[in-house]
Amino acid sequence: MKPLETATFTNSFVDELSGDPSRENVPRQVPGYHYSPVRPTPVAAPKLLVWSEEMGAELGLEQPPEQGAATELLAGNRVADSMRPYAARYGGHQFGNWAGQLGDGRAISLGELPGQDGRRWEIQLKGAGPTPYSRRADGRAVLRSSVREFLCSEAMHHLGVPTTRALSLVSTGDQVLRDMFYDGNAQDEPGAVVARVSPSFVRFGNFQLLLAHEETDNLRALADYVIRHHFPTLGATSPDSPEVYVAWLTEICRRTAEMVAHWQTVGFVHGVLNTDNMSILGLTIDYGPYGWLEPYEPGWTPNTTDFTNYRYAFGQQPQVCLWNLTQLAQALTPLVPDPELLRPALNQYVATFNRSHHVRLLAKIGLTASGNEEADKQLVGSLLPAMEGARVDMTLFYRHLSHLAPRLLAGESAEELATQLLQAASYAAPEAAESASLRTWLGQYAARLRQEPATPEAIQDGMLAVNPKYVLRNYLAQQAIEAAEAGDLAPLHTLHEVLKRPFDEQPEHEALAARRPEWAATKPGSATLSCSS
Ligand code: AMP
Ligand code: MG
Repeated sequence: MKPLETATFTNSFVDELSGDPSRENVPRQVPGYHYSPVRPTPVAAPKLLVWSEEMGAELGLEQPPEQGAATELLAGNRVADSMRPYAARYGGHQFGNWAGQLGDGRAISLGELPGQDGRRWEIQLKGAGPTPYSRRADGRAVLRSSVREFLCSEAMHHLGVPTTRALSLVSTGDQVLRDMFYDGNAQDEPGAVVARVSPSFVRFGNFQLLLAHEETDNLRALADYVIRHHFPTLGATSPDSPEVYVAWLTEICRRTAEMVAHWQTVGFVHGVLNTDNMSILGLTIDYGPYGWLEPYEPGWTPNTTDFTNYRYAFGQQPQVCLWNLTQLAQALTPLVPDPELLRPALNQYVATFNRSHHVRLLAKIGLTASGNEEADKQLVGSLLPAMEGARVDMTLFYRHLSHLAPRLLAGESAEELATQLLQAASYAAPEAAESASLRTWLGQYAARLRQEPATPEAIQDGMLAVNPKYVLRNYLAQQAIEAAEAGDLAPLHTLHEVLKRPFDEQPEHEALAARRPEWAATKPGSATLSCSS
């Protein structure tokens, strides 16, 4: 383990792709290039607020003191000699409409460090100041949204969901003006910078913009770069042949399907699934107005910007990711002789998602795929509307079910246990008529559970290992933010620690596993969020 300031960075993106020769750091179009070299703009008084020990250990880095050389690097106040900082050029579809050039408007990649297995991780500062892609915005991020990104990306990792990571959260000592509710009442908020980490930050939108500008050589160079570094087994035999691009898209589709299947079974709502927020590695990326389902409700999104169409609501995510993948396939058409060659990859997405979603849901209720697949599909298929009808909290429901499974197997009355389950997990009255389907379902489930060959203990252990007790409930994040803004970091640190072991009981933190309190159902920041960050 060594101090960050002694680390030597590599810069494959900058070394191997095509860079903007201009150093003019003003908003502009950058046709013809993959990125613009740009240095972070220093901040007033950087202070390290949170450090991810696990990510640090992966990179061989020791935890830095609150202030000093490492924190200066993590705030963008200092650039190491080995770094070649850059902002990437990309475009994207925002809410279904082509938006043209977007790019890293406030994220600046510093360079790469090797992980424990020698593979490289890119370190990127979010909120590091303006770049040529900042358009009309300031290049900064507020503490509120930075806490949200730090906590959630690390929590997702510990849940086993593919995601970009966070290394550090630094407060800047600067104020940042934001109109949080888009109501004309802009206010100063404390600024912050998150150092986030990923093998790559390339998005679907990087390729889309190159198609839009007919930059086919750049398109091919970027595809080959990504394959060479991140999908090395694919390109090994015959690089840049159409078969390699087809196999690559197929793998992107497979990974994206697995990622969304994870989201749908932990209750994560991304909130802004624009194509510029889709990672080419199938990682959850760009934590903005995301949220966690509390009452199970497929139509729910926390993002107020999406309240007219609900395009990115929980239940829409699998479909929207397919739409996004279709845009990516479109962007890759110049690399293959016949666009039809790309279609099977999209079919692969649908097949992988359906399979993975089904198997994950089965595991959540303690079942292994049986010979009677149709019956199992029906059982799982009837659970989701029943959960919605009964207004059960998604996390509490599965966690309690894990504890009830052995009791159902021991012959306790399903009717009796249904009442207990509803009392523990529902936002409605347990006797509500809308809960009838869930009661019926539990009886059917008990019958199916008895066909499982595993012991009751093994079934329960399996369920507790996939049904988290602790997730980043929307109001918990907001409480940690409000405390941090007032100078109290304890709730933030506690939440960070507890979410590292989401499947462990941690009885001393029971309060963080509680049902959402009534006041949080409508509170801005908890129930609703905007893109202002
Ligand atoms: P997002 O909705 O956060 O994914 O951002 C969409 C686009 O807006 C990306 O190109 C971002 O870089 C850019 N953007 C968001 N916030 C800012 C900001 N404060 N300053 C500059 N660019 C920003
Ligand atoms: Mg984004």
